[in-house]
Formats: sequence, C-alpha cells, structure tokens
Amino acid sequence: TPHPAADPAAGAAVKATDRAHVFHSWSAQGLIDPLAVAGAEGSWFWDYDGNRYLDFSSQLVNTNIGHQHPKVVAAIQEQAARLCTIAPGFAVDVRSEAARLIAERTPGDLDKIFFTNGGAEAVENAVRMARLHTGRPKVLSAYRSYHGATAAAINLTGDPRRWPSDTASAGVVHFWAPFLYRSPFHSDGEQQECERALRHLEDTIVFEGPGTIAAIVLETIPGTAGIMVPPPGYLPGVREICDRHGIVFVLDEVMAGFGRTGRWFAADHFGVVPDLLTFAKGVNSGYVPLGGVAISAEIAATFDERPYPGGLTYSGHPLACASAVATINAMAEEGIVENAARIGEQVLGPGLRELAERHPSVGEVRGLGAFWAVELVRDRATREPLVPYAAAGEAMTAFTAACKQNGLWPFVNMNRTHVVPPCTITEEEAKEGLAALDAALTVADGFAV
Ligand code: PLP
Repeated sequence: TPHPAADPAAGAAVKATDRAHVFHSWSAQGLIDPLAVAGAEGSWFWDYDGNRYLDFSSQLVNTNIGHQHPKVVAAIQEQAARLCTIAPGFAVDVRSEAARLIAERTPGDLDKIFFTNGGAEAVENAVRMARLHTGRPKVLSAYRSYHGATAAAINLTGDPRRWPSDTASAGVVHFWAPFLYRSPFHSDGEQQECERALRHLEDTIVFEGPGTIAAIVLETIPGTAGIMVPPPGYLPGVREICDRHGIVFVLDEVMAGFGRTGRWFAADHFGVVPDLLTFAKGVNSGYVPLGGVAISAEIAATFDERPYPGGLTYSGHPLACASAVATINAMAEEGIVENAARIGEQVLGPGLRELAERHPSVGEVRGLGAFWAVELVRDRATREPLVPYAAAGEAMTAFTAACKQNGLWPFVNMNRTHVVPPCTITEEEAKEGLAALDAALTVADGFAV
C-alpha cells in the first residue's frame, strides 16, 4: 500500500488553478470542490493532504486493472519512444494486434474492430453503421440506460461528409427493459418480467413499424442506470425479435465489458451474440482514451465496396492501442477476469447481502463480478427511494461524505451506490471497503424509516 507524502500547499495551488481555469463536465461550476489528486496505485489514490482512498468506483467504472499497472505504463512509454502518432489510414503493429486481441475475445463473428476515442463515439458509429446497413431511420433504446454524451455532431457539419449520415429526420424511441425490483410491468417474478418485457418490445416495434427500425441498442447489463442483470431469457429473446424483423442488435458493453462482470464480455453470461458490440473503458482501463465497435461479418461486408463514412483524426491512436494490447495481455496473464468473478462470488456478493440484512436503508443489492449496486431506500416496504428519482438529496450527500471520511471513494448515482472496484482488487481490500461501507450505511439508516 502506498504511503503518500503530504504536501498541502501544492494541493492548494493545484486546486486554485483548477477553480480559475478548468470548466468541469456535468457540473455547476460554482458548486463544486474537486479533490486534488496527487497519485494513485492499484486500488488506491491519494490527495495532497495525505488522505488515501480505496477506489470502489474504478473512477468512472473504467480502471479495471487498477491504477498505474506497471506493464501498461511500460508499454505506453515504449510506444511513445517508438511512434507517438500516425493517421488512422495506416496499418500499424499495435493497432492490428489490439484489434486481433479484441476480436479473439468478443463473442461470435464480431471479428472486425472500428476504433474510437471512447464510448459515446462507439455508440454513435454503431448507430450509423446500423442505419446504413438497413437503410432504416429509427433506433430503439431503453429508458434506464446510459450510452454517452455526444450529440450526433455530424449533423452540424456543413460539408458533404454529412450527407451519407444525415439523421435529422431520424428518431430514437424508448422502451422499458426488465427490472424486477421496480418492475415497469408490475410483474411478481423473473420469468413473468422477462415475458412481459419481450411482449412490450414486440408491441413497440409493431406500433413503430418494423420496417422503420434500424437498431435496438441495449446495455448487456445496464450500468450507470443501476446494474440490472436481465433475466436469463431476455437478451436471447431480443436477439430472436431482431432476427425476425431484420433489426440490427447492438449491445453496449462500454461499462460491462472487459472483465467487469467476471467474464470478458457480459454477453458471455447469456450466450447471446449481437451484430455490433460497443466497448471502451476496460479495454485499456482508460490509461489513454480508446473505445470501439466490434462488427459482425455481415455488417462489415456492407462496407466492402462502399466507403464507411466515419472516423476521427485520432481513431486507433498508437498510444491507446499499445495500452490496450498490454492491458488485455496483463488481464489474461494475471487472471484478472477470474479474480473479478471470484471476488464477486466469495466476497462482494455475500458481504453486500449481509449488509442488506442489517441496514434498513438497503432495499436491494444486485450484481455480479466487480459490478454491484446497492439500492438505498427510505422505506423497505414501499421501496420508496432514499432520494426522489433524478434529484439530489441530503441523505445521499451525507452517505457519500461518510464513505469518504472512512477512506472509501464510492460511485453514487441518485439513490444508489455502486460497488465497482478494480477487477484486480484483493480479498483484503474488498473486505476493508465493505467495512467502510458498513459505517457509511449507518448514516444512511438515519434517513430511513
Ligand atoms: N455506454 C455506456 C454503457 C457507458 O457506461 C458509457 C459511459 O459511462 C458510455 C457509453 C459513454 O462512454 P464515454 O464516456 O467513454 O463516451
């Protein structure tokens, strides 16, 4: 465990310049007080005042191999010394090798890799590929989902590169995916929830017009929206619906992919193969921005004779690809995916269920691998959330502060805290984090009935 040297004056200077000049994402600039981070290693990071935090967030659920993995740091350094940048149109060893390693692990025939700089851009391109492949405009996605923050920037572009992908007239239609704890279908069992969710999706398609729908985009296991593991039959059912209507099935594995769930891809748990699979985050633990789309043979063939209209200056950046190669190899060599599965089964799952028994503020815990949600409620009987939907609240603020006071950095979203540590976390660290969570939940209990 690293022992940071405290340097409060340096921390104060970093903070002052940050407040003067950095415009932070997703934030009211006048209301934030970002922690100044001095360094990180493994499952930990620390500030300039000598406080260490056990990272139960993996930052934005991306540092699957933890901070500063020496093999990945070395690979980036070596690549920087050899070839820092090269345009996407060239064949380069690290890009080819990253694509090969990814294709080897994605399910089915998803054997061609289109590289992006992150998750949202991967989703944008998956949608564009689906629209061009089918010639249809609409895309269906779930209400409880997150797919990224970009806004189809190509529609703002003025030159003819916009024409093949002009989506101005196209629509996104939302539907309900299964979630038994807060069932949109008022089901009382998993099987019923699955059947009703599939019927609802089929009805949505019929009423929208099957011939107008290019793609259904789903997170394999929705992440930010609450880590809701679908019933076993749901994704195979969606696959069948897509096949019947000629709709492209896109699974978004930006968060759930690359070991997070204890398998290389969450799709592996369900035996389902999408037509397009988006990834980012865990592909290289975010050491250098990278994402991409894994493409089926059929959709890839659409663009054999016709150019694919998409790509950015930095697509498939050599530093990013080198870090992906090193990350995937380290994950394989060190059994990191297996570690996530084991920690989930043996430590996090049992530990969180035990906390749920003792704390009245815990409505449900659910998840697998290094991917768990703790749903905090005001009232266990009614399942009333600890804070209203889409609202901040004193209870979650107090809970979050208590986590940090106990040396734990949580991932908090609305009335939930997600337990999403690095997939490399040790049993001892996981137990230490659960003990800190235990203390913080006592604070949350004060807001429950
Ligand atoms: N898709 C999913 C499932 C995500 O969880 C995220 C980010 O959290 C994104 C897409 C967007 O990725 P990025 O922030 O890298 O653009």
